[in-house]
Amino acid sequence: MTASKRVLRNVSVGLVLDLLRNEGPTSQASIARKTGLSPATVNNVIQLLRKEGVADFEWINGREALVTLISTKGVMMSVMVSADFIHGAVFSFEHQKRQDLLAYPDDLLDQQNTPESLAAFIKQLAGLANVSVAALTGVSISIQAPVDKKNGTIAIWSAGRLPGWKDIPIKEKLESLLNVNVHVDNDANLATYAEWTWGAGRGVDCFLYLSCSRQIGSGLIIDGKVHNGSNGMAGELGHLVIDKAGPVCFCGSRGCLTTLVSERAILRILDDTENAKSSLAEVIASANDGDAACQRVLYEAGHNVGQALANTAKIVAPGIVAIGGELGSAWQFIKDSLRVATEENNLDNVSPGIQFVPGILKKDAVLLGGIASLLSQSGQGISDLPDWMTHDAADCSTTESLN
Ligand SMILES: [Zn+2]
Repeated sequence: MTASKRVLRNVSVGLVLDLLRNEGPTSQASIARKTGLSPATVNNVIQLLRKEGVADFEWINGREALVTLISTKGVMMSVMVSADFIHGAVFSFEHQKRQDLLAYPDDLLDQQNTPESLAAFIKQLAGLANVSVAALTGVSISIQAPVDKKNGTIAIWSAGRLPGWKDIPIKEKLESLLNVNVHVDNDANLATYAEWTWGAGRGVDCFLYLSCSRQIGSGLIIDGKVHNGSNGMAGELGHLVIDKAGPVCFCGSRGCLTTLVSERAILRILDDTENAKSSLAEVIASANDGDAACQRVLYEAGHNVGQALANTAKIVAPGIVAIGGELGSAWQFIKDSLRVATEENNLDNVSPGIQFVPGILKKDAVLLGGIASLLSQSGQGISDLPDWMTHDAADCSTTESLN
């Protein structure tokens, strides 16, 4: 094969893989139509992908088959590092098995959340899954802070939450501690990628995702890729200023979305009432039980989120906007105020047809995003998320001491 033919083939394979990752099982005729490739080229690419064990047919009746991406090889690990806990999972594609491990700061090596304690956590998790770290075919690390593209460290203004990671080039440091390649990204970017691959954002080129729980995270997919911006800091919707006279934010601004709708912000509003609560989950449960004050704060949170999303949507015109995290699971209490905020911002006139939906993958979004990202980088993919890959079906170990 000549070099130019090889390049053409690689481009064709890339087009078909991207389509199958984003749209799920698809017929060969639809692949040809949607990619603009000829039916003969599509057929060649599918045969090649089948030979490599990356794709197969899913028969929907005796005569019609959809092409589906499968992954039957390798063992990958995805780990999320936050200020409050470290959660990791090993995914064995051959055995179709997932093994989780959750640790709180007190359980970590020297009770510190640092690269060294994370490396020990990763070795313990690999041991639980009966695999050596060296045998892992991919390791993804998500961190609850923006990652500076230039030097690979977390943004200096977010280091207060993760002091053990301040000024550390994360990828470089972990690769030297573990002797394997690692993929490092911000947690919200990975959650966005998972929701685009398997969840609420499936099938659109441009997708905006906002996760609201203890912290606010957001990400943006443009043309099927996570948009990082020039410095890695794109998509920081949590720090859009919504109320210039609002509370001071840890980023140094005032009235950021984070100061209004994060768990702490919502609990603070209820602190002065007889309805004080200790977690966002409790607020949502009480709202479900008919607690009017809890319903009210969720309604207001939906309005603030709607303000931020409407303004952003005018700039990027996403096909779908999804809200995940715990606030996404309180959809019935936020959907009306979200709509009011978008109407106040005249969004439907300026940029019509944008759908607002709740996230689908819930707490699993970040870890699954790590796997989606590793699969994509290795030229693999999975068209439909199988049950064994989700948390409910996993083996979970928690708070095992690493000392
Ligand atoms: Zn801020």
